[in-house]
Amino acid sequence: MVNIAIDLGGTRTKVGILKENKLLGYSIEASSSQDSFSVSLTNLTLQINKLLADNSIRIEEINGVGLAFPGLVDVAQNKVISTNGKFNQAIEFDFNKWAEDKWNTRVKLENDARAAIVGEWQFGIGKGIENLAMMTIGTGIGGVCLIEGKLLHGKHFQAGVLGGHSSINYKGDKCTCGNIGCVEAEASTWKLREIIANHKMLDKSILSKAEVLDYKTLFDAARKKDEIAIEIMNQTLSVWAAGVVNLIHAYDPEMVILHGGVMNSSDIIIPFIQNYVNNYAWTPWGKVKVVKSSSLDFAALWGMNYLCKS
Ligand SMILES: [Zn+2]
Repeated sequence: MVNIAIDLGGTRTKVGILKENKLLGYSIEASSSQDSFSVSLTNLTLQINKLLADNSIRIEEINGVGLAFPGLVDVAQNKVISTNGKFNQAIEFDFNKWAEDKWNTRVKLENDARAAIVGEWQFGIGKGIENLAMMTIGTGIGGVCLIEGKLLHGKHFQAGVLGGHSSINYKGDKCTCGNIGCVEAEASTWKLREIIANHKMLDKSILSKAEVLDYKTLFDAARKKDEIAIEIMNQTLSVWAAGVVNLIHAYDPEMVILHGGVMNSSDIIIPFIQNYVNNYAWTPWGKVKVVKSSSLDFAALWGMNYLCKS
């Protein structure tokens, strides 16, 4: 029996077919979280059916469909509770009926950051470690934990999953979530564009000529010794590091996993954050290890593969 695992991202949708600890096949397609959800769903259904056909999987072989969603999810009813500007129309969509109608199977929904940490715990760098925290860095910032081998959900399904919205600057700017000075509001891709555009000395930086303002552009410019880029990069790293210490103080992990495409610059990021954690986290038992995700592309798929089993 196989599981179909989906990672519904704001710009890319990943689908994998997994059997126990094997990824039999996968596909990655562009998606738009601003499309109507029925369009997104139609595209997703086509993407799944093509992948099943390409891998000669029959409907009878499907154990379940696992969907990692970028928002707050009611895992008891498999419903989306709240989104943060992505796939807003998914709220109240009947995913159970969708999976049953299309593939005669059950569905399992989970928040995408929770899915990724489960993937690392069961199949990746966190294997065998029952107390983990993860920060996902991208358009937004996610912060999530696994405590004593269990995901926290809480009464309203938002426990242990809003680490990116812990406030690190009470005098800071308004965040998309409604709070002030969140990690995400101080250093995420959407904020980075504002920070660069508003920098008083921008005309002295190669960033002023960049076509795309993202972390890759920033880190590349910093590697070229661009002083403005180095200043913004160090500010960004300090924000993430403060967010990581907040995760450690909240959840008592043995390891913090950093996840997201920006980790292609892990040679800069990991030593900075590890050093900050060593200096500032209150952990009398020892030092929390800071590591890069072992599967930047597929951690959430592996997590949904595991969660579909139960
Ligand atoms: Zn926030």
